[in-house]
Amino acid sequence: MSLRAKIAFGVIAATAILAVALTVIGLEAQKQLKDQQRVSHERSQKALEDLNANTRRQLDAQAEQYHLMATRSIEKLVLAWLKPRLNLPASEIRFDLRDPDNGMSETAIIERRNGQLLPPQVFKPKESRMTLTSEEESVVREVFQSKQHRFTGDVLYHPYNPNNLEELQYVLRLKLDIPPIVAPDPVQIPPLEEPQPADLGAFVVAAFTTLALAMLAVFVLLMFALRKFVLAPLGNVLEDSERIVRGTEGLTVRGFKGGKGNDIETLVAAFNAMFSELKAYQSDLEGKVKSATRTIKAQQQSLVIAQRLAATGTLAAGLAHEVNNPLSGMLNAARRLKKKEGLDERARDYIELIEEGLSRIENLMKQILDFSRRRDMKPERFSPEDAFRRALPLVRHRLERKHLRLEEDIRKDLPDVYGNAEEIGQVLMNLLINAADACPEEGAIRVTISPSDSGGVVFSVEDSGEGVPLEVAERIFDPFFTTKEPGKGTGLGLAIAHTIIDNHGGTIRVEQGATLQGAKFVFELPRADIHESKRLKEAG
Ligand code: ADP
Repeated sequence: MSLRAKIAFGVIAATAILAVALTVIGLEAQKQLKDQQRVSHERSQKALEDLNANTRRQLDAQAEQYHLMATRSIEKLVLAWLKPRLNLPASEIRFDLRDPDNGMSETAIIERRNGQLLPPQVFKPKESRMTLTSEEESVVREVFQSKQHRFTGDVLYHPYNPNNLEELQYVLRLKLDIPPIVAPDPVQIPPLEEPQPADLGAFVVAAFTTLALAMLAVFVLLMFALRKFVLAPLGNVLEDSERIVRGTEGLTVRGFKGGKGNDIETLVAAFNAMFSELKAYQSDLEGKVKSATRTIKAQQQSLVIAQRLAATGTLAAGLAHEVNNPLSGMLNAARRLKKKEGLDERARDYIELIEEGLSRIENLMKQILDFSRRRDMKPERFSPEDAFRRALPLVRHRLERKHLRLEEDIRKDLPDVYGNAEEIGQVLMNLLINAADACPEEGAIRVTISPSDSGGVVFSVEDSGEGVPLEVAERIFDPFFTTKEPGKGTGLGLAIAHTIIDNHGGTIRVEQGATLQGAKFVFELPRADIHESKRLKEAG
């Protein structure tokens, strides 16, 4: 599945999940809304019913209050009406009681004789045949007793004693005509209507449409961002990686242009850092391989030269040995002949020529023997500068003869080297002689001695001569190789130098001098302790 398809799938899945979540939340919200509506409807309904009942109660209480007030007012009026009549004889009061407009619905006189209550005499309405209830009877007895009026409900019991007799004989029973006060019906608030659930249809459609549009926008934005910030830079990375794999120049990935600090930018930076490290590593490796190849080549060359020198040395030694005996006999004979009396001038010249020639051969033989001789000198630690100081006096006259300038650059912090100072001095002497030979009149020779990278010591002898041509350089360390005129060079100087340096575990080479522009012979000796331990190992 492509990344785009995955994102589309992700957006659709997210939309579906959101839609389901929204539906669940919506349904739950609707249910809670409904419940709340129901509860608040019930509460309002109850409050309404309570209000109706309270209003009813208050109206009833008010009606009762008004009735009581009306009763009291009428009672006062009746008592005021009664007061002047209470002194009237019974017949007159009976007349008044009979009056249909006296405002009382019932009137009666209750008589007591000898402590006994007689049935009440009713005057109004005529048809009333009143019998007292037991409560009324007890109220009447109380009034006879206390001689005070009593008012129960709307009935007034009043003592009547026109004749002022000791014992009270009459109680008037007057039922007042008090109209009933009916409380008005309270305004009934009709019950509340059942709440209707809200119609969420339109809202749901709007919500889902918004959601769909939002997700579509998210998808489009995502695709845009993906293309701009991920796919395009990745495409660049891929393209550049392919370009790099194909080995095209310029190890950099273009990636995303503008907008620092995003992930892709970091990735691209990491790629580029990796490539530049790779490049550095590659060139470092190339350098190392080149230097190793150079070392191996030099070592091979050195080995070949050493083998050649060894073979030539053996041959030369044999030859020198065979030549030396007859040579010394011949030299002896020539010297003796020279001393003989009576030789003519011509014969003497010949003998001198023979002696000179034989002396040269003897000198050469000495050098050949010196070259092929096994050197068994005791090795020791010595200062590199000491070896140079030893060689210098032996060549000074040659330098002075040609007015050559000697430049010395000898470092003071040199480590000791191990071997034979006299032999290293001989090497330096050979190099200085060759340099002096190569230099023009008033030329210069430069000697440097400095610590080497590997902890040993590097010697160099550079001159202001013509330098060494390539074809000469290839054979320069071969024994008997010389370009000097016959009789001037033996071609053994550098061969001996090579053998000595080789025996010291060092290397020697010739190169073009950078300072004086002539030949530059460079040899390197290892640090004393390394070579010492090597020797000890070989001895062990
Ligand atoms: P010889 O000095 O007897 O010739 P060497 O072995 O010392 O023998 O030198 C071999 C040859 O190397 C020389 O003949 C010369 O051609 C060349 N050579 C040595 N040193 C130098 C130098 N400093 N400049 C130019 N050529 C040199």
